[in-house]
Amino acid sequence: MTHVLRVSRVRYPVEVLGPGRRLGVWVQGCPLSCHGCMARDTWDPTSGTEVAVADLVEVWRRRLADGACGLTVSGGEPLAQPESLGEFLSGVAALRDPARQPVADIMVYTGYERDDLSEVQLAALRHADVVVTGRYDAAKPTRLIWRGSSNQTFWLRTDLGRERFAAFVDAAPEQTPLQVTVEDDGRVWLIGVPRHRDLARLERWLRASGMTVEAASWRNWS
Ligand code: SF4
Repeated sequence: MTHVLRVSRVRYPVEVLGPGRRLGVWVQGCPLSCHGCMARDTWDPTSGTEVAVADLVEVWRRRLADGACGLTVSGGEPLAQPESLGEFLSGVAALRDPARQPVADIMVYTGYERDDLSEVQLAALRHADVVVTGRYDAAKPTRLIWRGSSNQTFWLRTDLGRERFAAFVDAAPEQTPLQVTVEDDGRVWLIGVPRHRDLARLERWLRASGMTVEAASWRNWS
């Protein structure tokens, strides 16, 4: 059966969510409502765009040919659409060529804890090399790379995942790796896992660059 995945955005190259140049897929819809979430625009499960999984796999195939060394799926909550996610990751894994170096890895973010996953959610992750688990907790700030709060952990699931990500488990760089893009509609999109001060710094930089910050997906908190 072919599913559709409801998606917020798809971008390439993404260089700040996992090692190397990656395809980034942000799913649309999240039921977890973490306080302080910087991506509130991805919560609404009726927003975004429905994309056939076969079309997403084709995007991956093209990016692989461009030299992508990994896929990162974030959100939104990827495991809120487990059947579609599982079909997508199966299609991605089927294009793996062990003779091609580096072998492309699959990284998935979820707000769920490992022990909370249902059978269908676990099945969706069977091809994932590393899963970043746990909800964002604003009370637990961290410098750990690719994580927003200190409770979030890497679940290294495969030999490839261990080989590529083990060195990053305790990595805490001085500067957070971030990418900023200006979209065609004038919106500015911050890619990465910023620390709180990074968001204030970004807003200052935008104003200094002559841009008006009318709304921000991380600012709707009382
Ligand atoms: S931080 Fe992630 S899991 Fe939490 S509400 Fe935001 S998108 Fe959902």
